[in-house]
Order: sequence, then C-alpha cells, then structure tokens
Amino acid sequence: MEQKSVFELILSGELDSEIIYEDDEIFAINDINPVAKVHILIIPKRKIETINDTSLEDQNLLGKMILVAKDLAKKHNINQSGYRLLFNTNSDAMQTVFHIHLHLIGGEKLKNI
Ligand code: AMP
Repeated sequence: MEQKSVFELILSGELDSEIIYEDDEIFAINDINPVAKVHILIIPKRKIETINDTSLEDQNLLGKMILVAKDLAKKHNINQSGYRLLFNTNSDAMQTVFHIHLHLIGGEKLKNI
C-alpha cells in the first residue's frame, strides 16, 4: 500500500495536530513551522500529490479550498490587513509534502516574492 502522507496521518489521528477547520472534503491545520504569525494549511482529505495531478473534476474542490482560506483569513482577522495564498509544486518551489495544500500566510508584513 502506498505510504500515507503526513496530512493523512494527521487526519486519521495517527499524528497529533489540532484540526482548526473540517468539512466533508477539506481540513485545515496550523503549519508546524510557521513563516508568519498566521500560517495555516488548507488540505483536501483525498490525497492528490501535486497541482500537476489535478484535473477538471477537481475544480470545485480547488475553488472550495480558496473559499475556506478566505473564511479562515477573516476568522483570524487578517482579511483587511492582507494575506498570501500559495501552492508549492515540485522541487523548484520546494514542495516537501506530496499531498496538495494551500498555504494561508499573513498576520504581518510579508516580503515581496
Ligand atoms: P510545502 O513545502 O509546500 O510542501 O509545505 C509543507 C508544509 O507542511 C511546510 O510548511 C511544513 O512546515 C508543514 N508541515 C510538515 N509537517 C507538518 C505537521 N506535522 N503539522 C503541521 N504542518 C506540517
């Protein structure tokens, strides 16, 4: 059987982490190594390894991930001050967990990218 991703281990309770949002398709956790005051990962429950592996049938899921991120930004009171949403894909972008996740980063002035 294919090895579980760290996020699947968290979802199944085999690895400890506080799930700060959950619905039938998506969950969210605080990043263990935050790069800013707010750093949340929005993750589909179904493992998709990279954005390259998505297709038209994932469009609702991907859209919903952005809407969940927007709601979490508001909940953390950073919707007006600003935030960044990003997917890292493969090695040049330094993707380390091969189970797609949307980074929500904010709560302070971010460096230009
Ligand atoms: P990426 O580099 O885009 O693949 O991002 C993976 C992210 O997952 C990194 O920001 C890590 O800090 C984060 N991460 C890895 N393991 C855990 C964990 N157990 N709990 C929360 N975040 C994690």
